[in-house]
Amino acid sequence: MDDCPCYVGSGRADSDGVSLRAKQRNADFLISGGTGYVPDDGLTVQQLFSGSDGLTYNDFVILPGYIDFTPTEVDLTSALTKKISLKVPLVSSPMDTVTESDMAIAMALLGGIGFIHHNCTPEFQAKEVRRVKKYEQGFITDPVVLSPTDVVADVFAAKARHGFSGIPVTETGALGGRLVGIIASRDIDFLAEKDYDTPLSKVMTPREDLVVAHAGVTLDEANAILQTSRKGKLPIVNEANELVAIIARTDLKKNRDFPLASKDASKQLLCGATIRTYGADYHRLDLLVQAGADVIVLDSSQGNSRFQIAMIQHIKQHWSSLQVIGGNVVTAAQAKNLIDAGVDGLRVGMGSGSICITQEVMAVGRPQGTAVYKVAEYARRFGVPVMADGGIQTIGHITKALALGASTVMMGSLLAATTEAPGEYFFSDGVRLKKYRGMGSLDAMQQHLSSQGRYFSDKDKLKVAQGVSGAVQDKGSIHKFMPYLSAGIRHGCQDIGARSLSILRAMMYSGELKFEKRTLSAQVEGGVHGLHSHEERLF
Ligand code: GDP
Ligand code: GDP
Ligand code: GDP
Ligand code: 5GP
Repeated sequence: MDDCPCYVGSGRADSDGVSLRAKQRNADFLISGGTGYVPDDGLTVQQLFSGSDGLTYNDFVILPGYIDFTPTEVDLTSALTKKISLKVPLVSSPMDTVTESDMAIAMALLGGIGFIHHNCTPEFQAKEVRRVKKYEQGFITDPVVLSPTDVVADVFAAKARHGFSGIPVTETGALGGRLVGIIASRDIDFLAEKDYDTPLSKVMTPREDLVVAHAGVTLDEANAILQTSRKGKLPIVNEANELVAIIARTDLKKNRDFPLASKDASKQLLCGATIRTYGADYHRLDLLVQAGADVIVLDSSQGNSRFQIAMIQHIKQHWSSLQVIGGNVVTAAQAKNLIDAGVDGLRVGMGSGSICITQEVMAVGRPQGTAVYKVAEYARRFGVPVMADGGIQTIGHITKALALGASTVMMGSLLAATTEAPGEYFFSDGVRLKKYRGMGSLDAMQQHLSSQGRYFSDKDKLKVAQGVSGAVQDKGSIHKFMPYLSAGIRHGCQDIGARSLSILRAMMYSGELKFEKRTLSAQVEGGVHGLHSHEERLF
């Protein structure tokens, strides 16, 4: 935890941050001939939640603070789990209309993370995770390799299967074999179909013409060689000329173009995935770990169960470094059991999702503002970060969730109907839409047995839906939408006077951050009102 820049709140560093800020502000007042005494105004977070009513994000507003920095200076770094931090605290929900590999790649490139849903076979889910992990890397230590007797058609097949065609050629056709050449798309692009059975030995660039680097080279050194050689790939060989890895020029460009990207130590994008909490998902878990998943969410609408505790213990026993997020929970008592079992993060929310009917059908749940505050306030004592899941309709809701102690925010409907979300666009009444459905909707459950696990026992005969199926309007690409969301959070933090998310949480816990409840008419006033019509263009 010590090296994590984004501890979940409070503690020495945070309190110091606040007192420094307070000193600075007093100094500024004195310079400008300040009048001194300011009456107490607004509610501290403890006062906000001291009543017996549960609050949602719309029920309160945050009072503005003092600004002495620009929005671009706001540091949004925050903890996803005990060991993983993100530069942007945004997470895409493991739903089959929200997160597959395209969404997870885009989210990770832009500084967040995506969780691949499990309403599919374990093999499909693992394939999606692998696609995210392979999208960008430093040393590619398990590259696709061909042999000199393989033919041109094999290169096209590799391109179709994996998406790339810069392939080293070794005597054995495998990693560890002696390097004899390299084949790239421009070597075969203009070959006629009748030549597709030409052996690679005839068309590849042979070993003597290759620029290579030697095993032991650092990534920085290898990148420098790659840049000067102006080639697309740099093979790395040992003293016996055996291939040990390659690096790709494209990855240097990706690294330059996406400075916030969430990556592991091998420079691969971070990827999450979900599993159910029943024993049958051990096989799925194995495949996801093999595919390189960095963090697993245990998908359950009521996470405080013996199944989930057993699964957390199983994971911690077998893969102690794999990060596990437990949930969903909405009370400190639920959180306690999962923290005791060893979770690295908590997912908070029950019945607050836009497609969700749990509170109406089961009579169980909690308004999301209260749930986030209560669980985060408890979990921070154990260094366990909280992810606020569901009910996010606007950027303001994201900032409010973070101001109540959440370290990250998970979204479904807000990210649905982007280009990267699964599914095709369709038109209804001239509006471009994509389908968005609850994982506990009958629609989703009929598609695959897996999503039943979140909401039902396998033995339930009659399925009772806990979600609905609907559609959401086109939002364009995540590559434009995510920067809009993070810019909005930065502006919110600026208005509040918090230069970073850890300062925001520290201000909240220390009582410096002030809130106010909103009556229904205050909520109406806070939205667009009194116009005959208006167009809502947000960015
Ligand atoms: P940075 O300097 O902020 O990019 O810090 P990083 O830890 O991300 O990168 C350290 C070194 O690794 C730099 O030389 C980067 O150019 C290089 N690097 C980062 N990501 C990648 C990648 O995906 N592929 C390759 N080949 N190099 C990378
Ligand atoms: P190519 O010129 O067709 O080989 O493709 P690029 O070099 O433009 O892109 C290759 C991308 O695929 C890079 O981001 C690599 O990190 C990634 N990749 C993942 N695994 C492999 C592999 O086994 N071989 C190659 N060549 N690239 C890989
Ligand atoms: P492309 O741009 O995707 O076609 O691929 P590259 O830039 O990797 O390769 C361009 C050409 O240079 C191909 O004909 C390669 O076979 C050839 N080549 C020659 N020497 C090297 C080398 O040291 N590394 C690589 N990657 N290609 C080389
Ligand atoms: P949204 O961001 O759309 O408001 O909410 C997304 C969240 O709703 C998901 O991350 C998940 O926790 C929850 N959810 C997804 N499907 C269902 C469902 O069918 N029923 C319920 N109760 N919650 C769901």
